[in-house]
Amino acid sequence: MIDNLLNILKKGNNNLFYKIDEEMITYKECYERVLKLSNNLKKQGSSPIIIYGDKSVDTVISILSCIVAHRCYIPLYTCTPLYRIEDIINETGVTLILSDNEIIINNTECLSIEELNTRYDNINKYYENNNKYAYTIFTSGSTGKSKGVPISYKNLNNFINWITNLEEFKDCSNINVLSQASFSFDLSVMDLYFSIYKNNSIIGISSDDKSNLSKVYSAIKDNEINFLIMTPTFIKMLLIDNDFNEENYSSIKYMFFCGELLEVSTVKKIKERFKNIKIINAYGPTEATCCVSLLQIEDSMLSKEYLPVGKINTSAVDILIKDNEIVLKGDSVFDGYLDINSDNCYIENNKNTYKTGDIGIIEDNYLYCKGRLDNQIKYMGYRIELGDIENNLLKIDGIKEAVVICKYKDNNIVKLIKGYVTINKNIDTNYIKKELSKLIPSYMVPKTIEIIDSIPINNNGKYDRKSLSDL
Ligand code: AMP
Repeated sequence: MIDNLLNILKKGNNNLFYKIDEEMITYKECYERVLKLSNNLKKQGSSPIIIYGDKSVDTVISILSCIVAHRCYIPLYTCTPLYRIEDIINETGVTLILSDNEIIINNTECLSIEELNTRYDNINKYYENNNKYAYTIFTSGSTGKSKGVPISYKNLNNFINWITNLEEFKDCSNINVLSQASFSFDLSVMDLYFSIYKNNSIIGISSDDKSNLSKVYSAIKDNEINFLIMTPTFIKMLLIDNDFNEENYSSIKYMFFCGELLEVSTVKKIKERFKNIKIINAYGPTEATCCVSLLQIEDSMLSKEYLPVGKINTSAVDILIKDNEIVLKGDSVFDGYLDINSDNCYIENNKNTYKTGDIGIIEDNYLYCKGRLDNQIKYMGYRIELGDIENNLLKIDGIKEAVVICKYKDNNIVKLIKGYVTINKNIDTNYIKKELSKLIPSYMVPKTIEIIDSIPINNNGKYDRKSLSDL
């Protein structure tokens, strides 16, 4: 499937392919630009490539060109601190950053598409390349280092094949799709490949515009969006305005959710305003290529505490429950983290059976996800390991101990993240936050960090997270 990407783009002809702000591009224009850039990328080298920046037409062209050139792409959003980017370069052997932003990193070239094309157009030397990975997404890692999740062409093919052939989406060709996720989150894999293989038009919302709701509403209305792909956090923002309803936004036919718990109360609210749309709840971790199960939410499901996240018999992989944990087995499952020292996440070392860390049950063929077995959380749609924040706090001169906890609303929804530290030097919380934001993305920096005299210890001799959460 993914091997015929260029043909698929070519076949889209003059249909709108991607639009963001004032920029737009047809399928045919995209085909021509990807053909040229992918050819030049084959001459530049064979290492993975960082694609750094917010959403734009050039970012999409860069991603698709990497796919065609078999140069594994690593999408990094602008909130990634330089420190993390340097770590990623050291771990992956990246030799090129494709970006419109000026970003200066030792020994790594940073070029815009235009600069790269100018430099390589007249060169005729090609690198040998049989790289098996399509992309690597870096996600929060409990050790304090971001964790590379390489996704192979086989994984991506399995996902595309599955998602484009689902009965639920048989009427979803030649429609307008709203894409809100940044390319460094794997929800964007759904936006991009689902849309291309269904010949849809993608309307992207930039990060700046995401916080300006009036721009989002206009983008939906002006572009007659039919299909919204988003996290539950995002729809909760849209629902703030009572005018966001079927009467005013009659083009909307589908809302597709993935990435975090979709609450019954949220669906009830949507259904009050949009009586005739289809609501899809999808589930899956980055490690199993975007999502592996989904289903349409029916009214009859709204009487339970949790909504199902998929049907077992139509999933992209086999789904099993072992000791209350959701285990995934099949071609969408990745081959292991880039860092071979990461925890073993497989059952019996079998690279096909991935332990998600999600608590799950299967009932009447439906899968339910009921939280985590570890300290990984979802906050405002972002995946965060609390250990990642703690270990980075400990890197700051003057901090002796650090514990990060979160407070929950009902139903495992994280309300806030809070850090507690002890210190051995005279530093204050503003300084700590400033230093921390050099080490981790801004969305991971706790709004509140409290300096305390000592961290409470429980009966097992460990930090008493429970008593800190109850404070
Ligand atoms: P990510 O790798 O960022 O896509 O995050 C994957 C994690 O998000 C999963 O392991 C789950 O913990 C959570 N998740 C994804 N989809 C859902 C869903 N529909 N309901 C509840 N949790 C979800």
